[in-house]
Amino acid sequence: MGLLIYFNGKLIPEEEAKVSIFDHGLLYGDGVFEGIRGYNGRIFKLDEHLLRLYASAKAIMLDVPLGFSELKDAIIQTVRANKLRDSYIRVVVTRGVGDLGLDPKKCKVPTLFIIAGKIELYPAEIYEKGLDVVTVATRRNFTEAVNPAIKSLNYLNNIMAKIEANNAGASEGLMLNYEGYVSECTGENIFVVSRGSLVTPPISAGVLGGITRNTVIEIADGIGLDVKEKDMTRYDIFTAEECFLTGTAAEIVPVISLDGRVIGTGKPGEITNRIRKEYSLLTMSEGVPVYE
Ligand code: PMP
Repeated sequence: MGLLIYFNGKLIPEEEAKVSIFDHGLLYGDGVFEGIRGYNGRIFKLDEHLLRLYASAKAIMLDVPLGFSELKDAIIQTVRANKLRDSYIRVVVTRGVGDLGLDPKKCKVPTLFIIAGKIELYPAEIYEKGLDVVTVATRRNFTEAVNPAIKSLNYLNNIMAKIEANNAGASEGLMLNYEGYVSECTGENIFVVSRGSLVTPPISAGVLGGITRNTVIEIADGIGLDVKEKDMTRYDIFTAEECFLTGTAAEIVPVISLDGRVIGTGKPGEITNRIRKEYSLLTMSEGVPVYE
């Protein structure tokens, strides 16, 4: 059975949910989005995702057609209508229908849709074995061009990086910024364990302020693990004790090699596994209830 989609104020069958070919989200990638997960009948970190959506929209001067609590309700209604307990929710706001020029002034009404479905980024065995990552040639967008902190519909930078990772036969691609420092993978933030501390690049290195990244930092604080945000080179990853990626869809994925260099023991590390366990406990117990 098909999904029910929230589309500009109404819940409609997925076959009927269609955007115009003149929508600037399609023509120019002019819009913003969020990827959110629901676990066990609740929506995890919903407020945090919505705050980031409004921040992304503000940065590109796009008015989200619903207020915070209306949008929150619309998301809950969409998950409920699809009777999902575990879900992956995509919220998209585009500039709306305009003409063939790129001027956003011509787009009078933003398009808003919400898809509540499922996602599986990596097979289960990857979480047990770990990922092999390669560095790709495509650099992460310059922060003063298309700032990676904005979760916009413009994902070509990441898609080009993913193509290069695919061409190299790797499951993920590491992107460096224009200065050659580590930024993030194509759809996940990166952490290493170095001398017992967690280290991750700062947002200024050209990364998305990941909600999972923040959750991992909170978990680390809770278990007395030191966290440093600092610029890193590939060398810092080659020589780390452990490495893992974080993202809403991917959750926490161990990385066991970068560009052919084995990281640590070549197996998912102890600290990575501890954080994975804590993360899964949080996702099972926290979040906005959908069915109460
Ligand atoms: N970086 C990029 C480029 C992303 O697209 C994402 C989300 N898929 C992340 C990092 C992780 O962010 P979050 O933890 O909020 O999902």
